[in-house]
Amino acid sequence: MDKITKEQRSKLMSGVKSKNTLPELTVRQFLFNKGFRYRLHSKKLPGKPDLTLTKYKTTVFINGCFWHGHGCKKSKLPSTNTKFWNKKINGNIERDKKVYKELENLGWKVLLIWECDLKNETTLKDLIKKIRNT
Ligand SMILES: [Zn+2]
Repeated sequence: MDKITKEQRSKLMSGVKSKNTLPELTVRQFLFNKGFRYRLHSKKLPGKPDLTLTKYKTTVFINGCFWHGHGCKKSKLPSTNTKFWNKKINGNIERDKKVYKELENLGWKVLLIWECDLKNETTLKDLIKKIRNT
């Protein structure tokens, strides 16, 4: 039985970036505890980056492996409607690339955190190094 509502489905299908996901909250909490302050989903910037650290002229995207086509195990396409999903995810990848490029052209540093990377303890420490450019 399909319990998903019509609204949820259309949101899911349109690939709207879901906000406040667990990986996102994990990164936010870590950075906040380390004293970093950031804006969330700033509408002023291309792609509404998950985090914007104005002080460091840095944006951080926390990407779900499936939706953003990471290519890891977690991002494996469903075995049904493969063609549809392929197109969908490839579209997302293209859009992401465009957004990152736009941000870089505006002088912003773009940092990516993948959902699956969060299993690795060094990921968040490395993120801080990258933000500080050390
Ligand atoms: Zn991944």
